[in-house]
Amino acid sequence: MKTIVYEPTEENIKKCAEIIRKGGLVAFPTETVYGLGADAFNEDACRRVYEAKGRPSDNPLIVHIARASDIGQLTPRLSEDIVKLIDNFWPGPLTLVVKKKDTISKTVSGGLDTVAIRLPDSEATRALINWAGTPIVGPSANTSGRPSPTKAEHVLHDLDGRIDAIIDEGDCRVGIESTVLDMTGDVPTILRPGIVTRENLEAALGKTVELDPTLTAGKPADEDFKPKAPGMKYKHYAPKADMLIVEGNREDVKNEVERLRVLNEKLGNKVGILLFEEKTFNEAAHEFFADLRDMDEQGVDMILAGALSDAEGVGFAVMNRMLKSAGYNIVRV
Ligand code: AMP
Ligand code: MG
Repeated sequence: MKTIVYEPTEENIKKCAEIIRKGGLVAFPTETVYGLGADAFNEDACRRVYEAKGRPSDNPLIVHIARASDIGQLTPRLSEDIVKLIDNFWPGPLTLVVKKKDTISKTVSGGLDTVAIRLPDSEATRALINWAGTPIVGPSANTSGRPSPTKAEHVLHDLDGRIDAIIDEGDCRVGIESTVLDMTGDVPTILRPGIVTRENLEAALGKTVELDPTLTAGKPADEDFKPKAPGMKYKHYAPKADMLIVEGNREDVKNEVERLRVLNEKLGNKVGILLFEEKTFNEAAHEFFADLRDMDEQGVDMILAGALSDAEGVGFAVMNRMLKSAGYNIVRV
């Protein structure tokens, strides 16, 4: 299969919508990362999404819709809280996990009786969904386990020849995936942190929002652990290089990274350094995955990364990715 890269013109988006209608696979831009789109009601197409990514079949897909009112196709009921969240954050980088309708296949839901839904803010992508005439699934458009794709070239690198098309809208603005919020329990619970923070959600809802305990455990989940977001148990975002995070005050981190760089270069290793220092948490989010991929391209053997200090809110979301990328390999100085 030849993968075609399209500019987001009306004509091209209509072509891509036709591909989706026929059961094909189209990678699409969003504000978070690139997604891999297929008709959410076409089970064969959704199976091919798992195949193209090499994604475990029990790791469910997020369904993307073109307008908030389309949520009724996917879930049988809305609560007042869900409506508040939609009003405050959609379109935007917030995914809601809700009870699913029977029309959503277990292929999409990874065998769960819930479904994760998002309304992305890219106009090109909403036009794609609209013209396809169906909600589309959209996991990140990368090979499972690799850093998420924030540019069309990242998608091409991982999936060239495995998908029909890519709509190239340039760099993704946010750079890390959406916040995933479970709305099926008594207390809204964040399953994956993102740039919509716990504080943002609590302010909109006027009530407490919890973090899933795995997010603060500081270590990978045990083998037999059944997390609420099945994606949590898999290896994630891994660069080819070994990665070590150094945590501490800024000056100490810088010195330790320098010491380790010299040491490792003496051993003949190519070392890559990731220090966000003066950058804001949002800038770190924007660059993180692209930096990992750049270092892979350069043939780096070892990445030394400085932990973000006082990583709250968006910083907490970036640190969540950094810890997973490094396989929780962290030293404190
Ligand atoms: P990705 O598609 O790569 O952005 O990953 C989607 C994330 O959302 C994964 O961590 C999934 O496990 C999680 N997710 C998707 N659907 C559900 C669901 N119904 N319940 C809980 N987590 C979900
Ligand atoms: Mg992903």
